[in-house]
Amino acid sequence: MPNHPPLVDRIGGCDEPELGVKSGGRGLSEAAELEKVGPYVIEKKLGAGGMGTVYLARHEQTGERCAVKVLPASLAREPGFVQRFAREIDALRKVESPHVVKIRDSGVDHDTYWYAMEYVEGETLTARLRREKRLPWRDAVDIAVQVCKALKAAHNAGIIHRDLKPSNLMITRDGTVKLMDFGVAQVFAATRLTVTGGIVGTAEYMSPEQAEGRRTTKRSDLYSLGAVLYVMVTGRPPFTGKTALDFIQKHRFGRFDRPSLYVPDIPRQLDELICQLLEKDPEKRPPDAYVLQRRLEEIPKIVALQEDFTLDGEEVDGVAPTVAVSRSDAAADRDIGPGQATLMHNLMRAEIEVDRIRGERAWWNNTWVLVAGLVLVTGVAVLFGARQRSPQERFQQGVALMEKGPGPNYLEARDEYFLPLLEEDRATWEPKVRPYLERVEAYERNVRIRRQMGIRRPRDYGSEAERLLAVALRDEEAGRYPEAERKLEALLALIGDDPKQQAVAEVARQTLRSLRERRAAGAESDALARRGLQRADQLLKQGDRQGAERIWRAIIELYGDDPAAAQWVSAARSRLAKQATADED
Ligand code: ADP
Ligand code: MG
Repeated sequence: MPNHPPLVDRIGGCDEPELGVKSGGRGLSEAAELEKVGPYVIEKKLGAGGMGTVYLARHEQTGERCAVKVLPASLAREPGFVQRFAREIDALRKVESPHVVKIRDSGVDHDTYWYAMEYVEGETLTARLRREKRLPWRDAVDIAVQVCKALKAAHNAGIIHRDLKPSNLMITRDGTVKLMDFGVAQVFAATRLTVTGGIVGTAEYMSPEQAEGRRTTKRSDLYSLGAVLYVMVTGRPPFTGKTALDFIQKHRFGRFDRPSLYVPDIPRQLDELICQLLEKDPEKRPPDAYVLQRRLEEIPKIVALQEDFTLDGEEVDGVAPTVAVSRSDAAADRDIGPGQATLMHNLMRAEIEVDRIRGERAWWNNTWVLVAGLVLVTGVAVLFGARQRSPQERFQQGVALMEKGPGPNYLEARDEYFLPLLEEDRATWEPKVRPYLERVEAYERNVRIRRQMGIRRPRDYGSEAERLLAVALRDEEAGRYPEAERKLEALLALIGDDPKQQAVAEVARQTLRSLRERRAAGAESDALARRGLQRADQLLKQGDRQGAERIWRAIIELYGDDPAAAQWVSAARSRLAKQATADED
């Protein structure tokens, strides 16, 4: 490997002379020989990226330790670079935030530009992800909140980062996150080097508008933060591709799987927020870093509240019913013992818990029956979990996973239950397992087709049915659910049992199923919020104003952004407001 910064390698297509050759003198670019830049004595190389090499260095007089970034000499010959470089560094020096790596100094040594920044002891997010594969969602949110603070400070100073990615995020031992390399991308972007392909390094996190060379705004950084959140939570970037062009095309046109496809247990709010950040249209993203920060900070609070409303501290979202009720009897007594003052609170909790238990529920109407039932189920679940599972039980578990409807649980059912059973005793299980495996296969095909869909142009569709499907999927994506449902139904009727169109039909069927589930879930939140409101009214009548207010607040907090429960949320709000005005009188 040659020892110069890898820029020339990266840029590939351009025929710049090797770095440092023109400068003649000390050959700054020869990393092995580089001993000093400006007043900084180089101690060791920290790393190299698309835009230069970073060294650990010490100020020759003050002894202060710094990280010094040396930009490739070829940049200096770019028209306008010197001015831009100076302007960016100046602007950057004005940004004051504990989450932005501070610029200490900058200068030119021979024809090589360098700047010295605060040396951050810690590791990059890249390194952490390499170690841990993916992060717990709470850690990811915490990191993103700190990045929001950095972006807020920079955006206020008129600086857009443009190269937000895991390797530009340093995490110190105490968990402080610091964003670096602000605006450097911008300086770089103005040079003709970019044209020859210098964007390779960051394509994974680049906003579509930037990839297309259109105007970048604050919201371009938010997109990149969305991609960073995605990779933290799921362990993979939203888009993957073999070549830079491939990436960029996918960013521009591609659909991606929502994070919950890979990590079903993350809060719904986080799942949706990440998708919103990755909107192609900047207008659809959150407006700025501050708003985003607030939304991120809300997520753990909402989850805490939801946990508070469940019996066992499990998360409400995405947890299988059998898990939800497996808890000790001692805990059951503590939570739902009748001696507690907040009985209503507990009843509401229990009801939310039941919301997670699918299946027959007509006779769950009476809340007392429900509470007693939960205690009972709990006991059984504890006994059940303690035993080794028989093949039949494992088969049933696979089936139960399948019954949750299409999703990553399908893959789990196949990999954890069906395939092992097949391996153990093919003759017995093959006939039972096969129909399920076929459904899993259809699901995988569905995901694949959807992924392809987005990057095709209309005339590329293989058939009219495929084109109609794409139209319906676009409705679904835009949240026009009734339209999507109608179109999919019509499409299925049209296709009938045409064998050539069964792949399309399967996608349509699965999408329809999830749309119907969504509609059903909407009806459930509607009912749950309505019942909560009734109980609050009852409490108020009995003089328990505190209890009533707690329920109203819970309704607002839990269903505030759920259109299906909008009327009950606004009722809860106005009742709370009425109580407040009553106080003033
Ligand atoms: P990239 O951001 O593309 O990885 P850089 O040249 O910006 O490339 O940085 C290379 C590496 O140097 C980073 O991944 C990081 O490990 C290290 N580094 C950069 N700046 C600092 C700093 N201020 N303090 C400590 N390490 C740094
Ligand atoms: Mg960097």
